[in-house]
Amino acid sequence: MKSFAYKATSSIGEAVATLDQAKGAAVPMGGGTDLVGLMKNRIVTPEQVVDLKMVDGLEYIRKDASGYTIGAATTVADVQYSKEIADAYPVLSQAASVIASQQIRNQGTVGGNLCQRPRCWYFRNTQTPCLRRDGTYCSAVLGENKYHAILGGAGCFIVHPSDLAPALIALDAKAKISGPQGSRTVALEDFFVLPKEDLHHETILKDNEILEEVQIPAPMPGSKQVYLKHRIRQVWDFAILSCALQIQVQGNAIRDIRLVLGAVAPKPWRCHTAENILRGAALTPENVDRAIKAELAKARPMTQNAYKIDLAAEMMRQALLG
Ligand SMILES: Cc1cc2nc3c(=O)[nH]c(=O)nc-3n(C[C@H](O)[C@H](O)[C@H](O)COP(=O)(O)OP(=O)(O)OC[C@H]3O[C@@H](n4cnc5c(N)ncnc54)[C@H](O)[C@@H]3O)c2cc1C
Repeated sequence: MKSFAYKATSSIGEAVATLDQAKGAAVPMGGGTDLVGLMKNRIVTPEQVVDLKMVDGLEYIRKDASGYTIGAATTVADVQYSKEIADAYPVLSQAASVIASQQIRNQGTVGGNLCQRPRCWYFRNTQTPCLRRDGTYCSAVLGENKYHAILGGAGCFIVHPSDLAPALIALDAKAKISGPQGSRTVALEDFFVLPKEDLHHETILKDNEILEEVQIPAPMPGSKQVYLKHRIRQVWDFAILSCALQIQVQGNAIRDIRLVLGAVAPKPWRCHTAENILRGAALTPENVDRAIKAELAKARPMTQNAYKIDLAAEMMRQALLG
């Protein structure tokens, strides 16, 4: 690991000022469960690490008039064990409980989970060319690509690894971002970017900004929420594919729906096409199959990952009709 300076900042203002002064040579750290591995492998080689866990008042789960707010330094375990979150947002609670291992959930933060870097084995290995790092081509195209993207890849075919992100997008969460000029709030869906927008970053964050909190509105009244995750091992493992759903049904008609797939694309994949077909329609197997087929018609599998199309279809069917 390259040597670096450790900076424990006590306020958000001090943290972003430190990042700003470093002009790209400093990185924020939550629990370090991802960042330290990246530094050991020299994928990331900062001069300075700014510890956000030392910032006062960045670790909270708060209820307000419009819903809940979760501070970026809140641990995944705190979300997992929050009764209030489990009652209001089962999809989030379920997602938090299947992340990695209990030790990583105790240490890893919500901010770190949303901002974690891709798990693509070519990205994580400095010996193999990687377009996202600084290479001239993506090794996955002609290489091992069974866990790579079937949607939204363009040049680079990483999948977004976060379990919290699809669940929070299904809940219509917003991201509050803090920088030297103040703060801004964006829909969490728009926090993430595809390679065609930015090949080297997974989020819209600039080098001198941090994710401060996520804001979750009240759930759709009477909604059903579910998070499904398929992984090779039942513990300690990233999703091969995941599916987050919030759906509101009145009578047999779907009044509102938010459906998001994880691990199929370089960002959490909101299924707008399927949602538009299902909104206002009856919740029947025929309508569900039609919506799934239309959504997945956009999929462009690589040489080894066409199975993800069938898996995605089955998981959406289970979430909607199970
Ligand atoms: C063995 C293993 C298994 C795992 N399995 C899963 C899994 O199944 N599902 C899953 O979702 N995750 C999984 N993870 C990832 C893990 O959940 C994340 O590493 C953890 O939540 C990240 O949190 P952290 O606070 O430790 O992030 P850190 O390691 O501190 O940071 C991760 C990245 O986010 C940036 N960052 C951190 N906080 C902020 C912030 N507030 N604003 C801006 N940037 C920030 C850092 O600069 C860094 O680039 C796994 C990790 C390991 C090591």
